Amino acid sequence: MTTATSREDTEALAKGIIEGIHSFVESEVLPLEEQYRKILADERLLFRDDGRLVDEIAEARRNIRRKSAAAGFYAMLAPEEIGGGGLPSSVGVLVLEAIERRYGPGRLLIGWSNAFLTMTLIASFVDGPSHMFLSAGEAVRQQVLPSLLAGEKTICFALTEPDAGSDAWGLKCKARRDGDEWVISGTKQWITNSPYAEHAAVFAVTDPELVAQHKGGITCFLVDAQSPGYQAEKVLPIMGHMGSDCGSISLDEVRVPNERIMGQVDQGFQIGMLGISEGRLSIAAGCVGMAEWALDRSLEYAKQRKTFGVTLSEHQAIQFMLAECAIDIFTAKQTVVRTAELVDAFPTTGRLPVKEISIAKAYSVEGAERVLDRAIQIHGGMGLSNELPFHEGFRIARTLRIPDGTSEIQRRTIARQLLRGDVVF
Ligand SMILES: Cc1cc2nc3c(=O)[nH]c(=O)nc-3n(C[C@H](O)[C@H](O)[C@H](O)COP(=O)(O)OP(=O)(O)OC[C@H]3O[C@@H](n4cnc5c(N)ncnc54)[C@H](O)[C@@H]3O)c2cc1C
Repeated sequence: MTTATSREDTEALAKGIIEGIHSFVESEVLPLEEQYRKILADERLLFRDDGRLVDEIAEARRNIRRKSAAAGFYAMLAPEEIGGGGLPSSVGVLVLEAIERRYGPGRLLIGWSNAFLTMTLIASFVDGPSHMFLSAGEAVRQQVLPSLLAGEKTICFALTEPDAGSDAWGLKCKARRDGDEWVISGTKQWITNSPYAEHAAVFAVTDPELVAQHKGGITCFLVDAQSPGYQAEKVLPIMGHMGSDCGSISLDEVRVPNERIMGQVDQGFQIGMLGISEGRLSIAAGCVGMAEWALDRSLEYAKQRKTFGVTLSEHQAIQFMLAECAIDIFTAKQTVVRTAELVDAFPTTGRLPVKEISIAKAYSVEGAERVLDRAIQIHGGMGLSNELPFHEGFRIARTLRIPDGTSEIQRRTIARQLLRGDVVF
């Protein structure tokens, strides 16, 4: 495992990786952005009628993913035990922050954009190899993992259902055993990357009594999207976009071999929470970067745009907005960095920073939304214009208050931890 022992080591390690990513983007991604500039700038050309990406852009994203994997970036946050880069969380958050800060929203071939929450450069638990795969058995490690690590194929994380979102104990999707196989039936909704994934980590009820007691009873199955009865046809466009990478899945008597169970039967809830915890911190880190991107643009603009004979930066009302952005960003960043350190320390402390992960997710996402809102205000009419991607950043920040636990669920988690006696800060 790549280790980092102090903040200085962490920052030095992150700096080298970030420089590598920037040169990768320059040589491999920017030429594609230029080639597809017209399509990327117009959702009427970008999305098909069914909300999926047109073939050339889907293929460009696949190519970048493969090349990023070959260059050692794509799976760098996944643990070494499954063939990933084993990058400590404290380095990972700095890398994610740097990507969003440099490239900002509206760059579909790089980061969050056009209602896509998957990144081509780096895998997350909703589309590729992650810590969840530590629980994978031999069959999954041999049959599925290599193509995920190579960026050839992707997964989706299928927990949410039409009647079970925040309350995962309300799952209705069921799996029953039939010899060496399981038969799964149910519907999944709001599943990121489901329109594109070759495999799905499907969470299904295997023991309703345990589920009723909130003591287990949910199992995680790695299902092939080609299996008879599996359908991921519907894309769910969001936030005014003409498509997204989010969709619904129906499973009608889908047969899955026993060897495709992730972890133990009835113990899937913990696996899901592991993935979601990882996702919460990654979202938080990306939001810090996106907020920094917006503040960078706002500072530039405030220094050159003049009203009433002086630059915007000389008006105290504008200065206060800039300062409020800095307060949000600094607070969010320190929260994310400290939380990542606590995650890295888990093997020695045995303490999973549940409360801190929720604080980081809620604060960074809500902070990014405030910063994007101020950036739009500082830019006046231009802030609203489709020419600048502030609207995109604002929509992303607003969107991120829902997945991987809504802001209310983060507060619920924080309060529960406090009431259990976790009052360490
Ligand atoms: C863009 C996007 C991508 C997503 N990607 C995935 C994915 O890849 N995989 C996946 O499985 N799911 C995914 N989701 C689903 C997401 O995790 C759920 O939407 C989320 O958990 C909320 O569930 P819900 O939409 O059913 O809302 P509900 O659970 O019905 O909640 C509705 C409202 O009530 C509030 N609420 C609920 N319970 C409480 C409570 N106890 N106290 C206070 N307030 C409460 C919520 O905060 C929310 O404001 C995604 C969602 C979106 C929008």
